[in-house]
This record gives sequence, C-alpha cells and structure tokens, in this order.
Amino acid sequence: MSKLRFRVVETAFKKRPVNVELPSERPSEYFAKFVFNREKMFKYLPGKVFEKLADVIDNGTPLDRSIADEVAAGMKQWALEMGATHYTHWFAPLTEGTAEKHDAFVEHDGKGGMIEEFSGKLLVQQEPDASSFPNGGIRNTFEARGYSAWDPSSPAFIVDDTLCIPTVFIAYTGESLDYKAPLLKALRAVDKAATEVCHYFNPEVKKVNAYLGWEQEYFLVDEGLYAARPDLLLTGRTLMGHDSAKNQQLEDHYFGAIPTRVAAFMKELEIEALKLGIPVKTRHNEVAPNQFELAPIFEECNLANDHNMLIMSLMRKIARNHGFRVLLHEKPFKGVNGSGKHNNWSLGTDTGILLMGPGKTPQENLRFVTFVVNTLMAVYRHNGLLKASISSATNAHRLGANEAPPAIISSFLGKQLSIVLQHIEESTDDDMLSLSGKHGMKLDIPQIPELLIDNTDRNRTSPFAFTGNRFEFRAVGSEANCASAMIVLNTAVAEQLTEFKNEVDRLIETGEEKMAAILKVVRTYIKTCKPIHFDGNGYSDEWKEEARKRGLDCETSVPLIFDNYLTESSIKMFEQTGVMTQKELEARNEVKWETYTKKIQIEARVLGDLAMNHIIPVATQYQTSLIDNVYKIRSLFPEEKGKTLSSKNIELIEAIAEHTAFIKEHVDQMVEARKVANKIDTEREKAIAYHDYIVPALEKIRYHIDKLELIVDDQMWTLPKYRELLFIR
Ligand code: ADP
Ligand code: MG
Repeated sequence: MSKLRFRVVETAFKKRPVNVELPSERPSEYFAKFVFNREKMFKYLPGKVFEKLADVIDNGTPLDRSIADEVAAGMKQWALEMGATHYTHWFAPLTEGTAEKHDAFVEHDGKGGMIEEFSGKLLVQQEPDASSFPNGGIRNTFEARGYSAWDPSSPAFIVDDTLCIPTVFIAYTGESLDYKAPLLKALRAVDKAATEVCHYFNPEVKKVNAYLGWEQEYFLVDEGLYAARPDLLLTGRTLMGHDSAKNQQLEDHYFGAIPTRVAAFMKELEIEALKLGIPVKTRHNEVAPNQFELAPIFEECNLANDHNMLIMSLMRKIARNHGFRVLLHEKPFKGVNGSGKHNNWSLGTDTGILLMGPGKTPQENLRFVTFVVNTLMAVYRHNGLLKASISSATNAHRLGANEAPPAIISSFLGKQLSIVLQHIEESTDDDMLSLSGKHGMKLDIPQIPELLIDNTDRNRTSPFAFTGNRFEFRAVGSEANCASAMIVLNTAVAEQLTEFKNEVDRLIETGEEKMAAILKVVRTYIKTCKPIHFDGNGYSDEWKEEARKRGLDCETSVPLIFDNYLTESSIKMFEQTGVMTQKELEARNEVKWETYTKKIQIEARVLGDLAMNHIIPVATQYQTSLIDNVYKIRSLFPEEKGKTLSSKNIELIEAIAEHTAFIKEHVDQMVEARKVANKIDTEREKAIAYHDYIVPALEKIRYHIDKLELIVDDQMWTLPKYRELLFIR
C-alpha cells in the first residue's frame, strides 16, 4: 500500500463505534418534539385560528390570510421556547436537494434595542433572490424574482437553531420552479378524480389521500477512505476500481448482523428522525457490502416526501458524527448492487378505506378491482413518461443492470390477482347482465382473500409490483426526490380515473345499471392494458424482445427518455389535470438535459484528471522498476537463461505500455469529444452527445485502469481499493 493509503486504511480499521446515548424518554414521548404539529398548534394558537388552520390542512380549503399573523405569532412563541433564533423557508428546487436561507427573528424595536419578530407576511410568502436555481429559462437572471409560499399541509419543524417552514417555490409569473408545487397539484387532481369514483361505492367519502412509503437504500464509507477517493468526493461514485475478490457472492450481508459502528449511526439517526416526526420503523443490511436500508411507516404523500428530503440531509449530517460518509448515489460501486428507493404507493379515503386492498364483499372487491385496473391503465398509457420520471444520469447505471428493475416499465400482479382479472376479462355480456341482477349486487367476482400476496410470491425484478394493498414503484433512484415519480404517477391515475368516470356515466345514462356499467368498462380496460402486465423475469433478454412487440417504451438513452415529457399525450395529461403547463414542462426538460450533461461532464473531467495524475504515473513507475529488473536479470545470467527468466516481466511491461497508451489516447479523445459537444447550443442535443460519446468513453477508460490495478504493485497504488471501501466499517 502507498503510505497515504496505508494511513487511511489503518485509521479506518481502528475506529470504534461512537457511543450514542438513548434519550431518557421513550420514543413515543420525544416523537415530533421539534415539529409544530397539531398538538402544538392547539396549544399555541387561539381556538378559532386552530380550527381554520386544521380545515386548511384536512380539507385543502384556501388559506385565509387574516389568520396568518396569529399562526406566525404562535409558531414564533413555540420556536423561541425551543431555543430557535432563526427561521427559513425550506423548499426543493429542481436540484435533487433542498434549499434554505436563514433569517434571524430579530428586528429593531424602534427604541435602539431589538425584538424577536415574525409576521404572517414572512410566514406566508418570501422572495428569495433565487436567480441561480435551475429554471430552464423561465426566469432570466435579470428577472430574479421568484417566491416561496407556505405549504400549511406539511408542518414546520426545527433543525438546530432554525425554524424550517416547508414552502413551494414559484416564478413570479406563476410557473413552478420546484417539486412541491406540481406534487401538490397532482395530489389534488388524484384526490378529486378518485373521490368521484369512490362515490359509486361510498357516497360519504369526502377526500382521497395518496400514500407514500419510501424505502431508502444507501452505502456508508469510512470518511478517511472517502477523502482519499477524489471520484467519490466529487461525483458520488467510484469511476474506477476493480472488483474485490469477495463482494456480495456469499449473500452474507443481506439482513446480516448490523456492524456496531453502523448500528451506532443508525441509532442516532433514528432518534433525530423521530424527534422530527419521521416515523422510522425498519432498518437492515442490504445485499451489497456496506449497503443498508431505512424505511418509515407510510404517510400522506406530500408529507412523506418532505420527510424523505429531510432524512437524506439528516443522514449526511449524522454520518459525519460517526466518521462515515453516506453515499446516496444509485451506483457508487461497479459490480455490486446499486441503491434504489422503492416508492410504496396507494390511495385511501378519509373514511379509512385502502382502495388498493381487497375487501370482504363482492362490492368492495369491485371497488378494489376498479382502482387497481385504472392504475394499470394509467401506467400502461404513460409507461414511457413514468420511466422518464425516474431517469437521471446517476440512476441510468442501475436501470437495466442485473440487480435492478429493467429500463422497461411493466407491472407484476401475482397469481391471485391475475386470476381475478382473467376471470373478469373472460366474462361475457350475458354474465354481466346476470351479474347486475335485480339487486345489482350479485357480482360474479371471485372471493379475494384479504392478504393477497404472500412475501414469497414477490417478483423482485418488476419495476411496478402489486404487493397486496399497494403498488411498489421500485425503479425510483436512491438519490432522487420521490416527488418526480409521484407527480407523474398521481397525475396519470387522476387522468385515468376521470376518463373512467366519464365512460361509466355515459353507460349509466343509456340505462345500464351502475355496477354492471363499472364492470363493463373495467373489463375493456383489462383487455386494453394487458401489455403492461408481466409476471416473468424482467432481467431476461426474452422480455426485452417481448416488451418491444407489446409496444412498451424500451428506450435506454436518458436524454431521449426525457422526450416523453413533451409528447402530445403527456402535455394533454398535465394540462387537463392542471398539474403543469406545456411551458413548465419545456422549461423543466431543459433543466433535466442540462443537469444530465453537467453530471457526465464532471465525471469525465475527474476521470481524466485521475487517469493522468494518479494512474499513469504510478503504472509508469512500476513499469520502470520492472524494466530495471529485466536489465539486471539479463546481466546476471547467460543470454538464453536471462531471456527466459525475464520473459514474464517483459509481458507485464508490454501490458502496462498498452493499457497506459490506451488510457492516454482515449482521455485525449474524450477531451476533444467534450469540446465538440460543448459547442452544441441546444440542451437536448448536447445531452445526447454526452450520452452517445462521453459515457462510453468513461467505461472504456475505466476498463483499462481496472486492469492496471490488478498488475501494479499494491505498495504504489494510491487510491483505496474496493476491498477497503466496501469492507471496512
Ligand atoms: P418490503 O417491501 O421491503 O417488504 P415493508 O413491508 O417494510 O417493505 O414496507 C415497505 C413500505 O411500504 C413501508 O414504508 C410501509 O409503511 C409501506 N406501506 C405499507 N402499506 C402501504 C400502503 N398501503 N400504502 C403505501 N405504503 C405502504
Ligand atoms: Mg419493498
């Protein structure tokens, strides 16, 4: 090992777990301690104001500005009592992270002193000078005004000394510049459409919530080792590194005992998460070495999404207390599993019905089938768009690779649900008539057991799997803001349910009995959306061929996948549901293409630098020592014997020469290709060029570097190797 590498490896190896003290209270007592939740609203707000605010939160009634001052006063009082000194609007711009700008509560009191000040105006709306956030040209830098506006449905919380107020972020002209604004619109759209469909079955339903339960996967790496890998530091993934002889082949990490240093990190993370009201529940080792998972109990989608954004920043922070860095990148290491973020999604009513779960009566089961089939229709019609919603430069490494969902969206239903749908599909119109019968209730739907699928029946290769009472969208990236996927899914289901309602109503108008009409439409849908249903092995090559025949979107180039946002059917869907305008979609796509290009551009630069400054010098140095050895052997022995004895080293010298020559040549070519690509003036074409020319170059160069890693003397190799990064904890 090189000296530097030896030092960081040794230090990492010696580290002991940090002692995390458990709070003296029980989790149920400190849960949401730092959240201005309903309990605190009740305590700190006047009764009338509390009622109005609760109405805004529960029923989405517009916020009455006149209560803002009193809410702000209550919030301020609570925050000051908790020791907060600052406040910020907290939002999610079109980067993957969150943004905040802290202001102190202090104001001049007009008498030469200071007072703590926080008005309703400051709570409700602010104008961050936010011209440097991605905006796809909606807001030119000279028109810097955009504003953040309070989202009362997600409660304010305190981190360190700062009161954080969840907000949307919008351009002055009204276009959304963030993830939350369209998400809230998508949730409203699906609420409205689903509530109307619910009324066929349960007239008392007033609201339908979308639920989200995310499962966050991540890697932990010792921070000393991390710091010695410029590629990890700058791009979040290793751009080179030969497989460790042992990685995940023994399958000994998944659900294994959690290493103590990691357990200490998890413990502290969970305590802090619970204090922030995030209902974390599950933790375990994942498949790859040093890979882990964390999952909370599912929540209303908007809140769940804020909680995911919050936990990602919490993870980054707390990892450092334990001498770790957390890697949220989808594919930090080649050759072992990448990280995803399964999005468990379902719809449920304010009356407590989970709409994606079967019930006890035929009518409940018709309702269940209705919602499942409409979801399948939505996923079928917008499968390309759904793929676009989870696509990114980083997630591209995961999709299509062997451990992850393929780059084709399909849905796994499992045996029992498949049989039910087949049965309905095969029923005839005559059956239908007899179904409706006199009472309209004798529905010929097979009994569906409440627990539909047991865990063994799960298909891990499916990107969109039905799992008993929900769908699990597994293709979402670990680093992503889930809102991107949730916006598309909820909007697509909203559009679909609205069309379903129209079709059923038309049949009812022509005299069809209600339940029979529903069944009739459901039956045609089952036929139409069949291509999306696939229970087989999603990793197989046959499936790719089959999917193509079925007309599913099989594109693998991320910049081209983004085109799905701008197809006629996507624009129509977003505009009719009121979620996004064409202008917003176009602007956001500019951001997507630009981000894609920049990520690859950074990787190319880092790889170029490392190849030239770390790899080639070290390889050449080793090669020189081999050459030296050859000369010495030859001078020591008679000619023939000297040749024989040095022949293996000659082979190594040649191999090193070939690899280094290839690397140098391809780094030069990559620089040239970048220069050409950088001159392209549309973001889309530029991203395509980066995808077509730079990404393959990265892989080729890496191949030769990894070969060198196997040859070159370990004492000289400066970069921590996979066996160190993945196994020291
Ligand atoms: P796994 O899929 O790994 O077995 P779990 O059974 O622990 O995972 O559940 C994963 C997530 O799904 C959890 O966040 C859980 O709360 C969530 N979940 C369970 N039921 C629903 C539902 N009806 N809607 C949305 N999320 C749900
Ligand atoms: Mg899961």
